Amino acid sequence: MRVDFLIVGQGLAGSVLALELIEADRRVLVIDNGHRSAASRAAAGIVNPVTGKRLAPSWRVETLLPAALEYYLRWERRHGVTVFQPRRMRRYLTPRQRDRYWPRRLASGELNAYLADPAAAGPDSVFLDFEPAGYVDTALFLDTCAGFLASRDALRRSTFAGDELRIGRTEVTWCDVRADKIIFCEGYKAATNPYFDWLPFTPAKGEILTLNAPALTADTIRNNGNWLLPLGDGRARVGATYEWKRLDETPTAAARTELERAFTALSGEPAGEVLEHRAGVRSVLKDTKPVLGLHPGFDAVGIFNGLGSKGVLVAPHFARCLADHLVSGRPLDDEVDVRRNV
Ligand SMILES: Cc1cc2nc3c(=O)[nH]c(=O)nc-3n(C[C@H](O)[C@H](O)[C@H](O)COP(=O)(O)OP(=O)(O)OC[C@H]3O[C@@H](n4cnc5c(N)ncnc54)[C@H](O)[C@@H]3O)c2cc1C
Repeated sequence: MRVDFLIVGQGLAGSVLALELIEADRRVLVIDNGHRSAASRAAAGIVNPVTGKRLAPSWRVETLLPAALEYYLRWERRHGVTVFQPRRMRRYLTPRQRDRYWPRRLASGELNAYLADPAAAGPDSVFLDFEPAGYVDTALFLDTCAGFLASRDALRRSTFAGDELRIGRTEVTWCDVRADKIIFCEGYKAATNPYFDWLPFTPAKGEILTLNAPALTADTIRNNGNWLLPLGDGRARVGATYEWKRLDETPTAAARTELERAFTALSGEPAGEVLEHRAGVRSVLKDTKPVLGLHPGFDAVGIFNGLGSKGVLVAPHFARCLADHLVSGRPLDDEVDVRRNV
């Protein structure tokens, strides 16, 4: 089989990149092992314009947010599914945020574009409502992507083993596949990829719960460092934990207890029956920026990774940038180029 691009991994990164390359009339084959615990499937899919303790607009939000919203809406129109649910995000301010960060943001007006009602937000606010925000049903998005790729003979369920890979000057071969380039989108597994194990990865395990929450009627997402996402059918999700030492996809009792407490703090209700408990590992680089582009020593080998805890927001814009780079040679932004780490 001959393709232009062989992509390893069908999480958010690999899926969106494959779709961009297909849009640019390139032939792709995506290899994915079908693990149901990939970060992209564990994720709550929340999109939030203001993140972090300092109440700052999220990195590059003015570019990334419109690109992401436009992307998922276009996908919905084309494929007849609803993957994005718009929801306000209510952020409860800590005493430090109220005293220190919010007065500065209020004076500068830099959050106005993301406040649901800027006139209602004043010096005494104890919470702020942000929009546009919401969540993407990532499992549904990935499933529809998989269906689309499979219909074009562009998806293979298989484990990619590096010892079968041959890198030539003008092409790569893997088993029966020949390609111009191979692009690794393996999430946190990239830390053990011999071509990219030199990147400064700091992966973080995360867990979330889905619970029965019949008393939760408002559909606003609540956030106090943890978040509570009402699903609108008597269920809610609560998340997410961060753990840097034990990097596996196994749900833990400690995280469950922590999240049940977070549910109560955010809802004022006792935690209901746990319906689902998911765990995954976020792939994060030390500078928390995505990483994309071609290997400094092997022109036929590339990467799209480091989406951190904002894959839903980050993937559409940077997949487009990487596809433009691969197809037309358009230079990559230095801040995300893999070569920044050399
Ligand atoms: C608990 C949790 C909550 C999160 N919540 C949010 C959120 O609310 N909003 C948000 O934007 N982001 C969230 N994230 C982050 C988001 O999940 C990631 O940024 C994003 O999914 C990363 O996508 P990826 O494609 O890079 O990696 P992954 O999703 O890990 O995908 C990699 C894929 O490659 C496959 N693969 C790896 N190695 C091989 C191999 N050798 N052969 C074949 N296949 C292989 C894997 O099985 C997987 O399918 C959360 C993450 C976690 C863990």
